[in-house]
Amino acid sequence: MKIRVNTLTIKENLNEIKGKIETACKNSNRNPDEITIVAVTKYVSETTAKSVLEAGIKHLGENRDQPFLSKYEAIGTEATWHFIGSLQSRKVKNIINKVDYIHSLDRLSLAKEINKRTDKPIKCFVQVNVSGEEQKHGLSANEVLPFIKELQQFEKIIVVGLMTMAPHTDDEQLIRSVFKRLKEIQEEAMDLNLANAPCNELSMGMSNDFTIAVEEGATFIRLGSSLVGSE
Ligand SMILES: *Cc1c(COP(=O)(O)O)cnc(C)c1O
Repeated sequence: MKIRVNTLTIKENLNEIKGKIETACKNSNRNPDEITIVAVTKYVSETTAKSVLEAGIKHLGENRDQPFLSKYEAIGTEATWHFIGSLQSRKVKNIINKVDYIHSLDRLSLAKEINKRTDKPIKCFVQVNVSGEEQKHGLSANEVLPFIKELQQFEKIIVVGLMTMAPHTDDEQLIRSVFKRLKEIQEEAMDLNLANAPCNELSMGMSNDFTIAVEEGATFIRLGSSLVGSE
């Protein structure tokens, strides 16, 4: 069944989500203002993506280049754009000067291409495969700090933080341990005090685990199905 998602449904979803964020913030002594919701629009049309903006969310996320470009065509710079999917080097040039954040930096060859193609300094998250699942992209935990140091050679890459995806499981403790670990690595990265790597952000938490992510320090949560639904 196809359900059209409109601004009203998105607003209702958003209210519910904000309530959960508030509770998670109370549980962990955090301020909800520290958390930015990125609406992941990969399951929905351009029209629905526009409704997301009307519902008051400015940050939109896409994980593939063509769907991103169609949305960008329709919406343009009114949104702040997050590229959250794995990125092939040959596709960098198509998107790099249209996106504001890249959440999936995971190798030097990609960093090199980004640095070459971008017109301006670009905010990147280093993607970490904390759980070590084989099918997941990202660096293993022990590769992160050396990688961030190496990125210093690319003057247009700003490492704003780390990103991870938790395993898809009902095991809350396992999910929580993944987020905790990412936070630890982020703090170690911050302590490097590198000019191009402030590394003070954490992109973690999706529809099924964002409350845990908020409790563990997420500053960007990436919400698709729970916020914008799917069409
Ligand atoms: C699809 C996707 C999301 C959103 O997923 P939901 O479970 O629908 O919230 C978040 N992050 C990444 C990297 C994704 O690919």
